[in-house]
Amino acid sequence: MNLVLFGPPGAGKGTQAKILTETRGLPQLSTGDMLRAAIAAGTSLGLSSKALMDKGALVPDETVIGIIAERYDQPDCATGAVFDGFPRTIAQAEALDRMLAKRGKKIDLVLELKVDDAVLLSRVESRIAAGGPVRADDNPETLKKRLEVYYQSTAPVLAFYRAQGKVKTMDGMKPIPEVTKQVASILDGL
Ligand code: AMP
Repeated sequence: MNLVLFGPPGAGKGTQAKILTETRGLPQLSTGDMLRAAIAAGTSLGLSSKALMDKGALVPDETVIGIIAERYDQPDCATGAVFDGFPRTIAQAEALDRMLAKRGKKIDLVLELKVDDAVLLSRVESRIAAGGPVRADDNPETLKKRLEVYYQSTAPVLAFYRAQGKVKTMDGMKPIPEVTKQVASILDGL
């Protein structure tokens, strides 16, 4: 099964993706993680992405489409994957559909995690208050920019998948175990 975890920055996509990897054996394909790994490795891809990521802007579509295609062709994706933080634009969603179609696959389901902006902001503030290591883009100012980008470029992707009848919406403001339960019941009901 190929599924997309969809929602604004900080909605809990990564958390749920990791749980799906553990419980269903579906690898988590997070473009954000792949880009951060490229930065850490000092590759040219990382170098060219870092400034955009730090300010909360999107990296170019071709960049993420390329890394996703390469990753999806690894053997662990043979039975499917959880796409986390991808696609973020209509062009990415179209490219993903084409990439999967070429391989005789498709997106089966899009799980939307709905979280209010105010809750996202308070989550960032409590991560900072907790004093743990925070990402360069994990602060209230950059979150506002990331939310702007989300509403402008990413939210339309939901309509794209709604038109395909693939979207299931969950309350992402519930505690993590409850969201996990909602996800499981949707998947078990398919
Ligand atoms: P994330 O970890 O998913 O929140 O992504 C962190 C940052 O990486 C984003 O704010 C973007 O700068 C970049 N990024 C991750 N995924 C994508 C994507 N699908 N398209 C464009 N930029 C992305």
